[in-house]
Amino acid sequence: MASETDRMTEQPADLPAGRGKRFVERLYRLRIVGFGLGFLCIASVLLGQQRGIVLWSLAVFHGFIWPHVARRAALACEVPYRGERLNLMADSLFGGFWIVAMQFNVLPGVLILVMLSMDNIAAGGVRLFIRGIGAHAAGIAVGVLVMGVKFAPMSTMTTIIACLPLLIIYPIAFGWAMYQVSQKLAARTREFEHLSRTDGLTKLWNRRHWEGQLAVEFERCRANGYASCLLLIDLDHFKRINDTLGHPAGDAVLIAFADLLRRHFRAGDSIGRYGGEEFGVVLPGATLRETQAIVRELLMRVREQAHEPGASCPCTISAGIAQLTCDMPDYHRWLLEADRSLYQAKAQGRDRIVVAGTAAPVAAADART
Ligand code: GH3
Ligand code: MG
Ligand code: MG
Repeated sequence: MASETDRMTEQPADLPAGRGKRFVERLYRLRIVGFGLGFLCIASVLLGQQRGIVLWSLAVFHGFIWPHVARRAALACEVPYRGERLNLMADSLFGGFWIVAMQFNVLPGVLILVMLSMDNIAAGGVRLFIRGIGAHAAGIAVGVLVMGVKFAPMSTMTTIIACLPLLIIYPIAFGWAMYQVSQKLAARTREFEHLSRTDGLTKLWNRRHWEGQLAVEFERCRANGYASCLLLIDLDHFKRINDTLGHPAGDAVLIAFADLLRRHFRAGDSIGRYGGEEFGVVLPGATLRETQAIVRELLMRVREQAHEPGASCPCTISAGIAQLTCDMPDYHRWLLEADRSLYQAKAQGRDRIVVAGTAAPVAAADART
């Protein structure tokens, strides 16, 4: 029953205000079930012992009113998470008190202590569990001080039957609550994993993840001996866009270009943001000829729309292509070849494609054919 994704076992010192509301709500629901059913256990013993109105009132309060009071009190705290942990200690104190009030009746006593300990260990690990035992002991001490010690450990059949709902239903409710927490945690982990792999602006793979994919593809091609190509693309004179239209407009161009890349390449191609306005694409299984055709088409598409008024990507692109060859010792070499080709494309006047290992570039004019 620990908080949303706050610590399952430890309480950090610097929790922000408002933290732990869902933790409070989750415990509130469990308290309604557990304490309502716990009332049956306690009532069966009080009935058998013909106890007075004070204990009955306390049992009713504890069974049916306390869960609401606890929730309100925790939510009123600056950090509800901390308030709820105090509530758990109050629960344990009450538990100890009821052990004495039930004159150490074994079955309901053990049952209540076990359920409360389960809550404590789930919410705060071993530390809260041990504190809970201390609170149980304090509750027993208070009970002994108020009521003295009377010992009647035998449980009647009525008490045994009255304990069954708590014994059966509470662990199921508890298990369900834990399952929901674990599901949320798993969803968040997936979300964080995705965020750690993607570039915040363009939502393409970030450089680290993309390079990882490049390394995997390199090893796979080497092992299977099939063709693959690597492509680096850089937007031409992108700085001018920032300088003339402003940085936010530059960002919008990067986003639009990333969308264009997503639409243009094949589903299995891995597209990443390699640097500021530089992008990388791995084309698994693509021959040089296929890659050139795909990149030519992209170059032309970008060029054609670059000078249109209100173009989403008002610049041309330069690209370097490197085919995987068997003399490459590692993927860094593959990357270096593509980078060199891109550099040459820039040096030769931009708006063109250069293929690694070929003397002549695929010039701007060729790209039109
Ligand atoms: P070249 O044709 O030689 O590539 O020239 P260029 O102007 O495109 O290249 P240069 O390396 O001189 O400038 C790149 C610019 O890209 C500079 C930098 O401010 C900008 N840039 C990098 N990342 C971002 C970003 O996330 N958003 C925006 N708006 N601009 C960025
Ligand atoms: Mg550039
Ligand atoms: Mg650049």
